[in-house]
Amino acid sequence: MPKKKKLNKKELKSYRDLLIKKKINLLEGINHLTNETLKKTQREASGDLSGYAYHMADMASDVYETDLLLQLASGERKLFMKIDEALRRMEDGEYGFCMSCKKKIGKTRLKAIPHTPYCRGCQEKEEKSGR
Ligand SMILES: [Zn+2]
Repeated sequence: MPKKKKLNKKELKSYRDLLIKKKINLLEGINHLTNETLKKTQREASGDLSGYAYHMADMASDVYETDLLLQLASGERKLFMKIDEALRRMEDGEYGFCMSCKKKIGKTRLKAIPHTPYCRGCQEKEEKSGR
């Protein structure tokens, strides 16, 4: 097993910021979606909105985050989960290394796709295998 050279704290922090920014963007997307859904529901429903008001107030909580995820399109949901996984890998000190070949992922690649679990080579193999 080759010795892993971990990313330095500064690098990790910049990727972490990128990941969190992406996550917020996604959640804001759902927020918008939720508002649209809400408006429609308000028009259709006959008046009792207390339940929805409660939902909106609770929006920031982690519990509701899971509900929100259900409203994401499957592609976005996958992305969200990949971002979460990447953040978890960061805590475990695995971030920045390919999950398949364990090699360090290039900086350029991480900057472009900070949530990627694979290096370019392994990603291409994945794609060619028909996924
Ligand atoms: Zn790899």
